[in-house]
Formats: sequence, C-alpha cells, structure tokens
Amino acid sequence: MLPWRRNLHALVGAYALDALGEGAERERFTRHLRRCTSCAEELRGLREVATALAYATAAEPPPELRRRVMAAVSRTRQLPPEALPQWRFRGWLSRIPSSGWLPRLATATAAIAIAAVVALSVALSSATQQLNSARAQGQAIAAVLAAPDVTTVTGPVSGGGVTTVVLSAGRRELVVSTSGLAALSGGKVYELWLIGPSTAQATAIRRAGLLPGAEAGLTAPVLASGLVAGDKLGITVEPAGGSNQPTTTPILLLSLPAVT
Ligand SMILES: [Zn+2]
Repeated sequence: MLPWRRNLHALVGAYALDALGEGAERERFTRHLRRCTSCAEELRGLREVATALAYATAAEPPPELRRRVMAAVSRTRQLPPEALPQWRFRGWLSRIPSSGWLPRLATATAAIAIAAVVALSVALSSATQQLNSARAQGQAIAAVLAAPDVTTVTGPVSGGGVTTVVLSAGRRELVVSTSGLAALSGGKVYELWLIGPSTAQATAIRRAGLLPGAEAGLTAPVLASGLVAGDKLGITVEPAGGSNQPTTTPILLLSLPAVT
C-alpha cells in the first residue's frame, strides 16, 4: 500500500506552504508537478497568495484579501463533515466572486490553509515579540491543514457566530477558528474543551486552549491535540485565564468526525 500515490494531488497545498520538508515525498511531488497541469496551475495561484502573505506579515493584510478568504471559509458551512472529491470543490469555488487569485485555488483545504495563515499573520503583526512561538504554532497548524485525511466541520455558536474545525483524525489534532462571536467584557475568555463520550469520568473533559482576542470578528487558529474516539468540541465562557473544568453552559457542542 502506497498512500502517497493516492493522495499526490492533495500535496500541492503542503508543497506551497513548504511543509513537505526536503525528503522523498517532496521529490515525488516535484516529479508529479511536471506532468500534472492542474497541480501546476494551482501552485501558481498559491504562490501569488504566498507573496501577498509575505507582505501581510510585515503589515496588516489588505482588508479585501482577508474578506475574500473568510468568505471562502464561511462557505464551507455548506459542506457535509466529510472530505469530498475534488470535482465538488470546483463547483463550490465557482460561486466565489471571480476576480483575483481565489478562483484559481482548486481545493477547499488550500483556501482554509490560507485563511489560517492570514489569521496567523494578523497575530504576528500585532505581537512581534511572540514571533518564534507563533511561527512554531503556524507550522504545526500547517501540518494539520496539509494532512491527507483533513476534514472540515462547522457549527453555529449560540448567541451568534460560527466555529470552523479543521481536523486530521490520523494526527489526532484539530485547528479551531471562529467568526462573529460576541465580544466579552471583564477579562472573560472563550475556552475550548474536548468532551469525551462518558462525562461520568473526570478525565472525559479536557482543556483544549483559549481563543485569542478577535480581530475584526475573527479569531486566529488554535491547535488542539490528543483527540480520542467519541470526542466533541465544546466552547464555554470562563473567567480571565480560563478554568480547569467548564463553569458555564457550553455555547457550542460540536460532534467531530470519528477517530479510531
Ligand atoms: Zn496533480
């Protein structure tokens, strides 16, 4: 069984993000790129975006770029929580306003990856002293987004807003971002939880990180690890610094694709 053969087209996002390393996988994809026109075309679009992002890390991303990327992400709500064949994504992408680079992107995964990097670059430009840890987190997030088994789930938040989860069952990791959540006062924070199937066990609810402050209604992606079978994602409002266990009613309880 050679899984890379099956998923070679899916590696274009990882290649564009420099997430393939220098090993054999990168060499195989480079060879594939010479004879696959759809991957070559997609890579050209991704490189244009990468150039825009290089600018964005030094300054605020152009509002129009962010608006378009987040519009693309919001459309993933129309997708069921399973990976779809690429031809369906093409139909989905054709509904995005057709100017600039976005229509060239051939997969929803690539659009989401770019959205995550854009959101991250916002975090970078507003906190340059945290550059190194943010870069490390960015690489970990890119690895999830580029995983061959990546799937996307979205869910509405009670009180307004949407949560987007990009998940790799194989890596047991997920990336969480939100849009349109209500602003919190008094130092309160949104806390993420992984909630196992049995709440009778104290270990069934695990902390999964705090959402960073929203920038224009969007929160930068948060990586959560240690996903187990039957987990749901929960969000609660907690006092400053977060809590060890939820102290309020979840405003989101989202079923996640099965991990085995
Ligand atoms: Zn290809």
